[in-house]
Amino acid sequence: MEKYTFQSSREVSNEAVQVVVRCRPMNERETADGHRRVVDVDPSRGVIEITDPRDETNTRKKVFTFDAVYDWNSQQEDLYEEIVRPLVSCVLDGFNATIFAYGQTGTGKTYTMEGSRLNQTEKGIIPRSFDQIFSHIARSSNMEYLVRSSYLEIYQEEIRDLLNKNPEKKHELREGAEGVYVQDLSSYICRNVKEIERIMTRGNQNRSIGTTNMNERSSRSHAIFMITVEMGPTVDSCQKMVKVGKLNLVDLAGSEKQCKTGTKGERLKEATKINLSLSALGNVISALVDGKNSHIPYRDSKLTRLLQDSLGGNSKTLMVANIGPASYNYDETLTTLRYANRAKNIKNQPRINEDPKDALLREYQMEIARLKAQLAERARQRDLLVSAEDTGKDDLSDSSDEMSDDQMDNKDTDNLAETLEKKKVLLSSKKLSSKHLESQIREMESRLLCGGKNIIDHTNEQQKALEMHNQEIAERKKKEVEMRQKLEEQADTAYDIRVTYENLVHEVEFKTLKLTKLFAKMTDVKQEIKDVAEEYNRERRELQMEQDLLLKELKVKYLIIENFIPPDEKNKLLQRICYDRENNTWELLPLVPDNIVLEKRPVSSENERRPVSDYGRVAIKVGSCSRYQGENILSLDIESHTRTTSDYQGPVVAPKIQALLEEALRDEGDLEFDASSINYHYSTKTKTARKDKHTRSAKVRGRFLKTALDQATNVTVSGAVFPKARGLVPK
Ligand code: ADP
Ligand code: MG
Repeated sequence: MEKYTFQSSREVSNEAVQVVVRCRPMNERETADGHRRVVDVDPSRGVIEITDPRDETNTRKKVFTFDAVYDWNSQQEDLYEEIVRPLVSCVLDGFNATIFAYGQTGTGKTYTMEGSRLNQTEKGIIPRSFDQIFSHIARSSNMEYLVRSSYLEIYQEEIRDLLNKNPEKKHELREGAEGVYVQDLSSYICRNVKEIERIMTRGNQNRSIGTTNMNERSSRSHAIFMITVEMGPTVDSCQKMVKVGKLNLVDLAGSEKQCKTGTKGERLKEATKINLSLSALGNVISALVDGKNSHIPYRDSKLTRLLQDSLGGNSKTLMVANIGPASYNYDETLTTLRYANRAKNIKNQPRINEDPKDALLREYQMEIARLKAQLAERARQRDLLVSAEDTGKDDLSDSSDEMSDDQMDNKDTDNLAETLEKKKVLLSSKKLSSKHLESQIREMESRLLCGGKNIIDHTNEQQKALEMHNQEIAERKKKEVEMRQKLEEQADTAYDIRVTYENLVHEVEFKTLKLTKLFAKMTDVKQEIKDVAEEYNRERRELQMEQDLLLKELKVKYLIIENFIPPDEKNKLLQRICYDRENNTWELLPLVPDNIVLEKRPVSSENERRPVSDYGRVAIKVGSCSRYQGENILSLDIESHTRTTSDYQGPVVAPKIQALLEEALRDEGDLEFDASSINYHYSTKTKTARKDKHTRSAKVRGRFLKTALDQATNVTVSGAVFPKARGLVPK
């Protein structure tokens, strides 16, 4: 089995996605309800066993092996130190990294990602990564850093910026030179842990806006916290290498099926959209693992488009699959384990992001260098002015000395004093602008974080050594698990090699043993195939049902369009509608195309109450009354107006009509047709129709009846009794 290692080498290629599974403890309700634990976790071997609660013999166990597994006793710190710390270290070396938390609602995704920031031991991955990033920066030497963070949410296939003042505003995805990005997504520079924590709190508060039930929304939306760390050496030169590491921390929506039988209308649409990103994620994983298909459906959802690099691209990726231990969650837990098992086989190609074009750090460094040069220039000019002022003062005193002797002109002295005053003003303004420049430089420099200043600090050194030591222990532990897994894999083959046949009986014995083992394995595999097929069928049935519901809705819409929307309107709409490939949506083009510019109404010339022709103006000057003369008429183009009537909104269907429509849409098999009474209906209903001839409704009914009658007479005309040969039997 290929293993994932978080070495910070530049030569990394084809690393597998690392997958770990965490099982939460039974909660009080589950214990009180008497649910059994069906999950067994063996952290030392990285193995999870799950028993089918429907199997009375308790023998049908499914075994899964992962890079690491964490049971209900695991601490937040264990997971962080062993798995996440090395990954965040790579980000600080200039790699991209993504951490996904996947699993059913209530299995501990948010607990694993965020935990509780108030309690040190309960802190999750995100706040711990803040600590690691900023303490790394504080301890580094001769390096400058710029840390930025963004926080967004994907809810019902719409992207919302959680740090924006208006979090309900939708944002679009765009494709640039550096990959896919969210347009106008706010990003904040953070100088320390407190600042970045404040940003996260603000985002979390915004997450709850617009929903009555925060849990409901958080379990149906994907939240992505993004940290970008730019780094470069602090040499006073612009020719230096800048590296950028990006860390995406993703708390996915609950993986349980949102679309249960019976959902309709808006609820159905919502459920379909919620499922979309997760199904797309599953499809991308399958396509990547499968390897047969060169097309990977990244474009199918916003989540997969945005995190394209994390799945098969330039990123180190970790998936934490969260599961619950109780028997009633068996199906969901098994699905999560299978999903995670598949993700293990995705291969990424992470590399250090060196010298990116959009590095803000370089921009800042260059701006600071420019401001410093400007400051130096100002200082030089100021010095020149100061020396000039001194000479000016000397001149002034000289001239006042000379005045008594030579009776120098008073005017010259005034001029000199004036120039001196001007220079003084100039000097003070230069001083002021230099001060402004200095504060600007200070402000910009404060955004760049510089390490190495506290490095002499002894405790810091010790802390660093301790962390390195812990990391070593964690790596060793990981290697131990890997070795165990390898040993188990090799056990069968090793056994083959060791055994030497002394005689035929031994050989038979050995082969029987091997056969029994292989037979057991075969039974397991057969069972697995059956289970997977069952699950596949279940999923197919669910999708089929979803499709049927959507088809039904589509039919209704078509029926409404065909019968209630005037063909002209329909055609107009059809001409305006277009498909936006970027956002996978249909859109209506504006009524007035952008390239048609409506002519502006001419304005009256200055001091005139209304537009006046040149002739009119001349005539007024001459003195004749030009107001009503035929020549004083402006020739204007016909104005084309934009539409004034409102767009067609579509009718609100009355419940009665809705019921009728539904009846009409029912499957044919459901319709009962009483053939024997056709003649009777014909006579009675036509009478009624004739009676009510004057009313409009009767006319309509009459028309319906006529069609029905035509059909009915077709049947009866051929004979009062149904012809036997055609096999029509009246009910
Ligand atoms: P999710 O985000 O997957 O819907 P939560 O993170 O909200 O689930 O967890 C549901 C509940 O389970 C929370 O009350 C959380 O404190 C608890 N929980 C989850 N995982 C653990 C764990 N490993 N240890 C202790 N409590 C946990
Ligand atoms: Mg959650």
